[in-house]
Amino acid sequence: MYDFPDVRGHFGPYGGVFVSETLMYALTELKETYAKYQHDPEFLAEFHSELKHFVGRPSPVYHAKRWSEMLGGAQIYLKREDLNHTGAHKINNVIGQAMLAKRMGKKRIIAETGAGQHGVATATICARMGLECIVYQGSVDVARQAQNVYRMKLLGATVVPVESGTKTLKDALNEAMRDWVTNVESTFYIIGTVAGPHPYPMMVRDFQSVIGEECKVQMPEMIGRQPDYVMACVGGGSNAMGIFYPYIDVPNVKLVGVEAAGHGLNTKEHSAALVAGTPGVLHGNRTYLLQDENGQIAETHSVSAGMDYPGVGPEHAWLKDSKRAEYVAVTDDEALKAFHDCCQIEGIIPALESSHAIAYACKLAPTLPKDKSILINLSGRGDKDMHTVAQESGLKF
Ligand SMILES: *Cc1c(COP(=O)(O)O)cnc(C)c1O
Repeated sequence: MYDFPDVRGHFGPYGGVFVSETLMYALTELKETYAKYQHDPEFLAEFHSELKHFVGRPSPVYHAKRWSEMLGGAQIYLKREDLNHTGAHKINNVIGQAMLAKRMGKKRIIAETGAGQHGVATATICARMGLECIVYQGSVDVARQAQNVYRMKLLGATVVPVESGTKTLKDALNEAMRDWVTNVESTFYIIGTVAGPHPYPMMVRDFQSVIGEECKVQMPEMIGRQPDYVMACVGGGSNAMGIFYPYIDVPNVKLVGVEAAGHGLNTKEHSAALVAGTPGVLHGNRTYLLQDENGQIAETHSVSAGMDYPGVGPEHAWLKDSKRAEYVAVTDDEALKAFHDCCQIEGIIPALESSHAIAYACKLAPTLPKDKSILINLSGRGDKDMHTVAQESGLKF
């Protein structure tokens, strides 16, 4: 049976806790709190009640029948995380962490955000639970994601523009870590993906596993068995871990993670840490990274802001090395084509992140027989991407 991480947070050689002494206390406190509530019936009942009544779970599985027919091969199914409140999977995890914060008596929440999706989810739950919310965001991202910044403010959060480094996600992460070190007594740091020091990668995976757990019930109801392939895009890796994890011990289910190849893997403008990176340490854990010969973190690129991160969660590094999952990458252009096809063939506007997984499924499906099935995690909706798509495709906004 698959049983990772170990007690110190290692997934094989990956994961762990690489932080300053000051944060060790906070992480130990968090680890103990999570261990206390992880299997607590009252905690789990409240978590699932929030998911049902506030988020709208379970999210349906949808058979993309017309598209499958057009592709002429395997059947494509979409797990509809785009239908969640706030429009993506991120809210599942944020609810779990905010519930832990409350139980620890911490009333000040900090988070970091790139495109603003995790910031919006965090601001939403802080409003819902009456918690103070401070979101760090690179000043470049504050300018390009004006609508999400406005959303966070409407929800009562304080958005702090970060001016250091490249003024994007990794700088916002550094700034959030700095805040946490300073205010560790009063503050809970809600991380938005399966990265960071232990116990975050495990905890975020567990909260997101509701996605795969639902699929394990829904797929047999729909097609009488589990899917042949389970596919998801990988930015930090949380929607992928959420749908993969419950399937890891199910034989014959192939797991495929799809990264952003940006302008192409032969250029430096991509964010495919697993496919094209090397192991190293970033943001408190050991994992695959995009770095230069001196270990300096590389500049990354993706048309999709949620995919634009130089690292990846450590559990994916382990699933890659142990060959339980396979990782591939698709370019900006391939993701954009899949985006438009999904809009026009199925009447669903997907997030650009999710469009990466869809793009790879469209390549694979025609090579497989019609009785095979591919389940894709449709991690979010594309409303937030209208400006980017208009710019990229020359369609007038
Ligand atoms: C943030 C985001 C992602 C990328 O994050 P993961 O942790 O890799 O899931 C993917 N899809 C959507 C819709 C997002 O908002």
